[in-house]
Amino acid sequence: MVALPSSSATPPNGKSRDLLQTIPQQEDHYPDPRTLPSPPPSPELKSQLTLSELSAGKYVSTTTRVVFLRTVERQDALGSKLIFSGILEDSTFKVPFVSHRISFPLIRNCVYRFRSAYVHEFQDKSVLLIITENTKIEPRNVEDYREFIWTPKIESITRPVRNTNLQGVITTVHRNSGLVKRCNNCKSLIYDSCPNKCNEGWGWDLRVSCRLYDGSGSMKMVLTKDIASNVLQKNLSELILSITAPNNAYINNNLYQSSALP
Ligand SMILES: [Zn+2]
Repeated sequence: MVALPSSSATPPNGKSRDLLQTIPQQEDHYPDPRTLPSPPPSPELKSQLTLSELSAGKYVSTTTRVVFLRTVERQDALGSKLIFSGILEDSTFKVPFVSHRISFPLIRNCVYRFRSAYVHEFQDKSVLLIITENTKIEPRNVEDYREFIWTPKIESITRPVRNTNLQGVITTVHRNSGLVKRCNNCKSLIYDSCPNKCNEGWGWDLRVSCRLYDGSGSMKMVLTKDIASNVLQKNLSELILSITAPNNAYINNNLYQSSALP
């Protein structure tokens, strides 16, 4: 079994999203609140959605736990202002949020019902819940927190999500794993020359491209340098040193065997 350290996951379906990799911090890029559509006049009380059901571009009601929270100062067209940003979680998923209702102090690990919060969808289909000045916030008393803890399984990841721990078995290690050459400019993998014809030189990098299976489903996963060194128990400079040694074949073979775990 390979227990992965904190890494980010994207959904198992679809070509470009079929990848475990690092994605940008969504809550750092929230839309200008003035560009959001107006909320419906009376928020639907009945239609409570779970975090896995959030529909993009809509105002929704959802009951979730605040997992993490910070206050950040932002500069926008109206000058500098404070907002809350953080992560919300229920038993189905977790989603980043920003709150423009700074007058309502949220508390970490408390559960709230948010009525009429806006679901913003990014290009990569990840979502951000936006608590606007008009969102109604009701603290909920919850006895059983298990309803508000998500245990990630590959099949339950329907949108990109950051900092997710998955546990599973690496079933395949793809050929483009190991020490790779990366373009200094666009960071593309280089075989003969940069596919974008940058001509800016290259540097060594370490990656393991593989498939992770966790019983519920499987997904493509790329272990980036630090995690890959951890799994291989060799750091990048040790690997580069051995490539200059007489027997170069050692590197790829050894890498292939050490990462093809049962
Ligand atoms: Zn390039």
